[in-house]
Amino acid sequence: MPHPDDTPAASPSQHKQQMIACALCQSPGPVHYRVRSNLIKDWSLICPQCWLQVERQPGYQYGGTRKASRRQRKR
Ligand SMILES: [Zn+2]
Repeated sequence: MPHPDDTPAASPSQHKQQMIACALCQSPGPVHYRVRSNLIKDWSLICPQCWLQVERQPGYQYGGTRKASRRQRKR
């Protein structure tokens, strides 16, 4: 049986999934988009729902997707 996440059982309190809170609606989620616009001055992580609105804002810029998954691409 394959293990989806092959992490040893270390201290239970330390290894939590990193849940990011949306900068607009504060709702935590596994996936957020890094965006910026004329209304959002600084790079902010927002959830897909809010992204649908921000995408239409003037000056919208997309800076990448952030996932809570530990399997992030290494540089
Ligand atoms: Zn949101």
